[in-house]
Amino acid sequence: MRKNIVAGNWKMNLVSSEAKKLVSEINKFEDKDVEVIIFPPSIFIQEAINTAKGQLKVGAQNFYPKEKGAFTGEVSTTQFKDLGASYVLVGHSERRMYFSENSTFLKEKVDAALSVDLNVVFCCGEPLEVRESYNELVYVKQQLIDSLFHLTATEISKCIIAYEPIWAIGTGKTASIEQAEEMHAAIRSWVLEAYGVEVAENISILYGGSCNAKNAKDLFSCPNVDGGLIGGASLESEAFLSIAKSF
Ligand code: PEP
Repeated sequence: MRKNIVAGNWKMNLVSSEAKKLVSEINKFEDKDVEVIIFPPSIFIQEAINTAKGQLKVGAQNFYPKEKGAFTGEVSTTQFKDLGASYVLVGHSERRMYFSENSTFLKEKVDAALSVDLNVVFCCGEPLEVRESYNELVYVKQQLIDSLFHLTATEISKCIIAYEPIWAIGTGKTASIEQAEEMHAAIRSWVLEAYGVEVAENISILYGGSCNAKNAKDLFSCPNVDGGLIGGASLESEAFLSIAKSF
């Protein structure tokens, strides 16, 4: 049975006192049927792990896919694993766009994370011009083929897929229920083609892109939407917890 998941991507926000307060408020959430993950900026990860209680999981937004060495300013998967992190984000559109992370590099990141037993939240999603030219299914499928579908069935079972249409991220413009469900069902069908029914039925597929306390219930009611990857609304505990209660 696949998990219901709500993940908060804090991006480059908050200072340490705010981060600590937010973790302690999120700690109050209790529902064993919902997994809650937070992705704080890396400087707050140790504190977040120390403060996190119960089922709250902590992940890293970014890392460099080499075990160790002369990579000034970078942090490895081994180091995050050592701190007690459980997840990493890979393929977020902001990393693809602002830091030129291409599909080959993302594939390396996926492999580096799984090699130390970190679970991966793999983001995919099309820009507006691709959606407007009706090529979104082909585009997203290729992103998965390029960076994720080389994995074995056991490896991909440690991954979560997050569909995040770029035109919906941070814009206040959410995909409609129909647009979200169509893409999520398509993603599950591609996983089915590549890995069979058991993997496809068990993989969680999250929606991301201006998901908030008002629209989460409708989005999460779609049969193939198993939760959300939340940006802006994850910085405020009331909104984030209300999303986590929307299943
Ligand atoms: C994100 O960046 O992953 C995201 C979904 O952001 P927002 O919720 O702010 O659109």
